[in-house]
Amino acid sequence: MAPFSTVINRGEALSLFQKRGQDKLDSDLRSNTIQYRDGRKSEIVGGLAKGSTTGIREGEELPHNGWHHRHVSSSKAPKQQHPLSDTLQFRHFSPLKMSEKITMADIPSDERTPLIQVVQIRPYRARYPHHNLRRSCTLLLTAIPAFVAAIVITILIYPDILGFGSRDPRRSVRLPNNAWPKSEGLNYKELQDILKETPKAEKAREWSKYYTSGPHLAGKNLSQALWTKDRWEEFGVKSSIVTYDIYVNYPINHRLALLEKEGSSKTKPESGADGESEADWKVKFEATLEEDVLEEDGTSGLEDRIPTFHGYSANGNVTAPYVFVNYGTYQDFEDLLAANISLAGKIALIKYSHIFRGLKVKRAQELGMIGAVIYSDPGDDGEIRKVNGYETYPDGPARNPSSVQRGSTQFLSIAPGDPTTPGYPSLPGAPRQPVDNAIPSIPSLPLSYAEAIPLLKALNGHGPNASSFNKYWHTGGLGHKGVHYNIGPSPDDLVLNLYNAQEYVITPMWNVIGVINGTIPDEAIVLGNHRDAWIAGGAGDPNSGSAALNEVIRSFGVALEAGWKPMRTIVFASWDGEEYGLLGSTEWVEEYIPWLTATNIAYLNVDIGAVGSYFKAAGAPLLNKALMEATQLVLSPNQTVENQTVYDTWDKHISTMGSGSDFTAFQDFAGIPCVDIGFNTGPDSPVYHYHSNYDSFDWMDKFGDPGFHYHEAISKVWALLAANLAETPVIQLNATDYATALKAYLLKLEDKAANSPIFSQESTLFTSIEKALDRLHNSSVTFDAHAADLLNEVRHADIPWWKWWKKVKLYYAVRQVNNAYKELERQFLYAPGLDSRPWFKHVVFAPGLWTGYAGATYPGLVEAIDDGDKGGAYRWAGIIAGLVNKAAGTLE
Ligand SMILES: [Zn+2]
Repeated sequence: MAPFSTVINRGEALSLFQKRGQDKLDSDLRSNTIQYRDGRKSEIVGGLAKGSTTGIREGEELPHNGWHHRHVSSSKAPKQQHPLSDTLQFRHFSPLKMSEKITMADIPSDERTPLIQVVQIRPYRARYPHHNLRRSCTLLLTAIPAFVAAIVITILIYPDILGFGSRDPRRSVRLPNNAWPKSEGLNYKELQDILKETPKAEKAREWSKYYTSGPHLAGKNLSQALWTKDRWEEFGVKSSIVTYDIYVNYPINHRLALLEKEGSSKTKPESGADGESEADWKVKFEATLEEDVLEEDGTSGLEDRIPTFHGYSANGNVTAPYVFVNYGTYQDFEDLLAANISLAGKIALIKYSHIFRGLKVKRAQELGMIGAVIYSDPGDDGEIRKVNGYETYPDGPARNPSSVQRGSTQFLSIAPGDPTTPGYPSLPGAPRQPVDNAIPSIPSLPLSYAEAIPLLKALNGHGPNASSFNKYWHTGGLGHKGVHYNIGPSPDDLVLNLYNAQEYVITPMWNVIGVINGTIPDEAIVLGNHRDAWIAGGAGDPNSGSAALNEVIRSFGVALEAGWKPMRTIVFASWDGEEYGLLGSTEWVEEYIPWLTATNIAYLNVDIGAVGSYFKAAGAPLLNKALMEATQLVLSPNQTVENQTVYDTWDKHISTMGSGSDFTAFQDFAGIPCVDIGFNTGPDSPVYHYHSNYDSFDWMDKFGDPGFHYHEAISKVWALLAANLAETPVIQLNATDYATALKAYLLKLEDKAANSPIFSQESTLFTSIEKALDRLHNSSVTFDAHAADLLNEVRHADIPWWKWWKKVKLYYAVRQVNNAYKELERQFLYAPGLDSRPWFKHVVFAPGLWTGYAGATYPGLVEAIDDGDKGGAYRWAGIIAGLVNKAAGTLE
């Protein structure tokens, strides 16, 4: 800036020229001094800016009309024609050459030109002592408040930019890193390439071999937890072991025998009642309750192999007639009641499949039955059966007749997790609740079909035949073995003795938790798989997922090694105790719910990673789009069509979230959108020996995933999905998909109500939800479009560092969108929970009350309709509409 003394505002100068024309100015422009009449001289500094910005260069003609005339006559000269727009400055006037017209040099120094005749410039003199110092001080004193004001305004607009305002980290708009919106270290494409190239089938096979080499039942696998932690640390991911003290059972002893009374007496044995002794009863058949030891299957004969038993089954020794109850679904039992089959005091003989086994036992117990035996009927194995000419394992793909499905009989749809600590973590010293409503009080045992045959055949001729019931009763697959599928009950002289001895303990379980810290402190993605298995093997469930998770982490480790720093935090979990009832994951979610609520964008679960070639997915609709995109990035191991991706070979069906794996607490308790993915079996796949000794490494290597290529593929889908969610500046959730799905779920429910005699006339029941869903749909479409525009802007923004405020403004806009996406699923949580199972907080998703695995949508409303409870139905319609409106509000 030029010194004050010689810079004169143009307007001031003109008025000086005009008012003080009587004064004679002598100036020597060449020497940059002004000679005043009174003899004072002043140096001219500042001057005409050099170069083209002035509009006049040295030697150049003055603009048309001559600027000096114009400026005498008018002070409002067009700026673009005047070289001196705001400040009259003198330096370089001298070299101006205005040939042909009058030039400055031509004007005699004493001529009274229109320009100079009115000019008198007062010579510089300091108005007071220390003038410059005082001016500097004034400037400084003005600048400080201006600076402070700028900061205050910034803080008011972006409260947390400098750490002021709300302490809530969700409101923070600090730039996550200097490179934002780019990641640090690697760009997204480079990261994707690493995640596509690193996972290897051979490596997955190596991990699978380790995990399936010995028993690793929940609470009995510390060495595998430590081993897992060590591997993850080797891969470059900081890891720790998180322990909970959990109430579980371990098997001690069991017996299942078919007893027949000798002679003609038809009375049931009652110990000591009428002098009958054990000797009157003969053992018609006693089950081994063992799976065959196979030479071809290395772990099937381990000395420390795990007995066949049920998690959370009750201790007991019961002897009673028994009834074939089909799948033991709620409806099956209704059918039996309708047919006047006596159930109370009997033992239920139940087929596996269709619903979660614990709910079969639950309903039997509620109807007064005193024990349950659950077996695997080959009728549910589809095409691949011995009867259709397929050899059984290990010679072929059909089910080994001795295979037994272990599993939990917890009442999964009531509450998962440690049954003694519903809703809070099982930390040392935590208060323990009674378990009556969470686990059975009648004993149960699992059974193979080979050992079920004698029991089923003994029912031949007793009670109605299943074929006289509805079609759901017609699926038995042992007709060729002489089984008629009579329902029973067995006569009083033909009874089952079921003995189940379990040791119940409170024992530590170990989750392994690995963390890659992101640069955004409050946005995190969680990936999880459980580690515990019912058997020594578990090559499919869960260790195909465990092997894949190791490959995912190893791949992210390679990226870290290459200098990558993720935008969002990525957490990896190897859960313990899933099999008993989602123990490790549920307790962890219950403990970390404040952190998860504040930060968790999505939970990505893989339980069974690969036991077949069919990609299967269940998920929250918010993640549909991201999931589809991830499957498009990975080549299918099946290359019947060249370069086909997992997406190409997939039926694109995404099931709703039910339960049966570790996503449950995330989705239903914490309101975090989840997916559950894996390659599973299809109609032509070898039968998967679920929870059997034959879910082994040898089975996997020969039948499940020979070559482990699907293990590799699921690792890639999982890692790339995580990377998309962790690295895209605008979070890749899609609200419109959610709104669309919510409408579809409602249509189904409306159909159900229309077919109900109680609700078919209730035309207004759904009105408030319909209106709210319309609103949600509209706001979702707008919001997603805004988010897409914003992402586009971010991707094309090339903001230089010194325009930091522009970056902050853009980041602030992104934060607002991301916070809304992050919190959208949470809007559907209803704190009091569902009426009959308050642990479940989500009003859209829950496991079906009587299915367990399969998801129910709008569970509160469905259950009220099922119960014929009009008041309840309207109350739930109101709750749902309210939450949908609230969700819409967050997007508007
Ligand atoms: Zn599992």
